[in-house]
Amino acid sequence: MEDQVEEIKRKTDIVAVVGAYVALKKIGRHHKGLCPFHSEKTPSFMVNEEMGLYKCFGCGAGGDVIKFLMEVEGIEFREALERLAEKAGVKLVSRRRDDDDERSKMLEVMELAARYYHWLLTEGNAGAVAREYLKGRNINDKLIETFNLGFSMPSWDSLVNYLIKKKGYKEDLLEKVGLVSRKQNGTGVYDKFRGRLMFPLQDAGGKVVGFTGRVLPALAKEDEPKYMNSPETALYHKSRMLYGFFQAKKAIREKKRVILVEGQMDCISSYAAGITETVAVGGTALTEDQIEILARLADKIYLSMDADEAGSAAIKRSVELAEKRGLSIKVVQIVGGKDPDEIARKSPEKWRELVENSVDVYEFVMNGAFKKYDVNKMDGVKKITEEVVPFLAKIENGIVREVWAKRLAEKIGVATKGVMGEVEKKMAGKQEASKVEVKENEAADNKQVKLSRRLIGQLILRQEAVEAVAPWFVGVKVSGAEGKLISWLLENRENMPVEDLVKEIPEELREVAGESYMAEDSEETPGQKEVEEAAVQLLREIIRDRKKVLMEEMNKARQGKNEEKEDEIFAQLNELNKKESKIIAFLG
Ligand SMILES: [Zn+2]
Repeated sequence: MEDQVEEIKRKTDIVAVVGAYVALKKIGRHHKGLCPFHSEKTPSFMVNEEMGLYKCFGCGAGGDVIKFLMEVEGIEFREALERLAEKAGVKLVSRRRDDDDERSKMLEVMELAARYYHWLLTEGNAGAVAREYLKGRNINDKLIETFNLGFSMPSWDSLVNYLIKKKGYKEDLLEKVGLVSRKQNGTGVYDKFRGRLMFPLQDAGGKVVGFTGRVLPALAKEDEPKYMNSPETALYHKSRMLYGFFQAKKAIREKKRVILVEGQMDCISSYAAGITETVAVGGTALTEDQIEILARLADKIYLSMDADEAGSAAIKRSVELAEKRGLSIKVVQIVGGKDPDEIARKSPEKWRELVENSVDVYEFVMNGAFKKYDVNKMDGVKKITEEVVPFLAKIENGIVREVWAKRLAEKIGVATKGVMGEVEKKMAGKQEASKVEVKENEAADNKQVKLSRRLIGQLILRQEAVEAVAPWFVGVKVSGAEGKLISWLLENRENMPVEDLVKEIPEELREVAGESYMAEDSEETPGQKEVEEAAVQLLREIIRDRKKVLMEEMNKARQGKNEEKEDEIFAQLNELNKKESKIIAFLG
């Protein structure tokens, strides 16, 4: 497996794969373009052929060609690998052969069922009733194709006959994918979906993993639920499902936003109205998995909901998850119809307008609370605060948080300080304090990391500089993966082309190597002097850090009246000072 991953990467042209999504231009050693993972006007997204890596210096996204495909398409590792393997002409062999075989059998039978249902809807005589229904809902042939809609016969054994008797699939398999149910007496199975409009649930790659069946008014029986979903199976996980994602992902990526609606009909009607970046979540609460998938492509999430829902636990949870992932949330307010489906069907333009006029979620929650409670009464103020403050406490950005606190204070007619006090009470005070501490350490680290990476990039480009630089680093410890890579580069001082060098670099250091290398985007190869200067600057930074630590230790020794220790540290400091002077002299 491991070897196959390497083989696929080797046989894949990363520039061609990325180039299908991003307009790339070769500048110097790298290809450059606008990052597909965040909005930007000047390109900071780089792809390097020799290393087989991409890196965005704006948002930090980066990795190999498999990771790129996963992120840009919102698919899993396995799926990305399969697609690249197919293009590269590599036949994937798997260790878990049985598992894979079963999975592909399951997918195969789901695909066949979807095609069967689709055929019944579009060609079959019995499908006329469903065709009528869709016509009445303005769902045309093109939409039926796009969403692969279907129809299930109002009988107990239509699918069973087709898949088992005609195509020879086993009962067990159909049961495992949730297409049939076992009869009470245990002998045989029957169709689970009967007389329903069928919506295939597709994964991010377009594969059918489940179904939702909607009862048709003309065929409805009283005791039947309006909607029926596939059960959870090895293929279908409700918490990961985003209906319409496969159809919407291109638009989501381009517009960097996604509109969330509740049901399949809402999704299709919104799509038909030109808001093609719409997906349905089957409720207003988002799961962590769903956010993760969406965050790969979008930076804004639009929830669509009634004003009544402001302050509900479902939004609270969604906002919390989205804030954590750095996504902003807007709310499309449902007015002029009971749901997006009705509004978009009646007037596509009206729906587009509602989407464009969406409001920030905090404003939505605030407005909702002020509508519900009377701000002129003490009790009302208390209720409003109780509803809004927990939301504001979840805002990660401190400035944004304060802006909203100020607005709330203004609306209530009190000083901002009071509201901020309440918000801070809601947030864990301790957490904030520890964050500040971590940040300081990070800043120090960052400078070293930055200088280390610069040296790495330059050493890769001008490997002959290793000779001069290596002796300076004897006895010096550079921290982190960067430090390990610098040691490795200094020890392996053989001149070779970058694509060969990269294969020699230990696996766990390749990412650092790639990122450092791609950060060097000047067209010219750095001169010997430049590399030496980069090395000196890094050394100087390390000495400074070391001195800081030693000074602290010396102070402690002094307080503890440990003279011997004090002298020892003093000697070390002296050594370091000498070293530093030498370096400064070199820098001139
Ligand atoms: Zn980016």
